[in-house]
Amino acid sequence: MKIWTVANQKGGVGKTTTAVTLGGLLADWGFRVLLVDLDPHGSLTSYFRISPDQIEGSTYSLFQDAGGGQSPRIRAYIHPTAAGGLSVLPATTALAAVERKGSGFDGMGLVVSRALSGIAAEFDHVLIDSPPLLGVLMINALAACKRLLVPVQTEFLALKGLERMVATLHMIYKSRNKGLDYTIVPTMFDRRTSASVQSLKTLREQYRAQLWDSVIPIDTKLRDASQEGLPASVRYPDSRAVIAYRELLNELMKTEILDERKLITA
Ligand code: ATP
Ligand code: MG
Repeated sequence: MKIWTVANQKGGVGKTTTAVTLGGLLADWGFRVLLVDLDPHGSLTSYFRISPDQIEGSTYSLFQDAGGGQSPRIRAYIHPTAAGGLSVLPATTALAAVERKGSGFDGMGLVVSRALSGIAAEFDHVLIDSPPLLGVLMINALAACKRLLVPVQTEFLALKGLERMVATLHMIYKSRNKGLDYTIVPTMFDRRTSASVQSLKTLREQYRAQLWDSVIPIDTKLRDASQEGLPASVRYPDSRAVIAYRELLNELMKTEILDERKLITA
């Protein structure tokens, strides 16, 4: 089971959209995919028409189980979606309490990682959507994943946000003595605006090694798809944004295969 996290401390940069669209594409390719919502706002949950105010089993339940010393009943919290092959582990607004309490119990940063290990045989891919702030939820998302995607809106303020995110990543990974492997994904690129063109230039100068070498264009079809409650890959498979996300996925899968070969030959 491959676990990828989508994270950035900056809000509104395309994290949820990236998780949903890549998840939809992976499901379309025949993989069993689980989308995990770790954002108390529950945007990903709402995307699939599940109400973050009303559901009982959720990512919050994983913290309740762990806090109460129980093994996670993760299977009971997973919902199928209208998109075949794609399931959701939703968030509730109560998840905000986890963030507020801080370090409530030992191993709180590994709750999601441990819960997912229990269903490793049931899904091929997991994509975790995280909240736009550094706290115990984002720590859980980072601890659980093998690969990290950092969407960055191509505009000046988002680049400032990226500096903070990268500094945070270095801090976290240094303290754990673990390698730092992340891919920056430029989003909402509009080649007609100098803000987009300039910020992409800056990204290429400053983050070349971690930067995906293409972009996700601005495309209203993504918003339309969210209104219809289906991944854009299902609703608008030939839209510009979905074509770009497909290219991104191809690239990511290529490096996954290379990584696996490295592991086998090591
Ligand atoms: P938050 O930090 O609040 O969780 P986020 O980083 O998850 O936000 P999204 O919710 O994915 O960001 O995107 C913010 C808004 O921008 C949404 O309305 C989404 O439909 C829209 N959006 C995302 N990507 C694109 C794009 N490439 N083109 C046009 N609109 C987009
Ligand atoms: Mg979001």
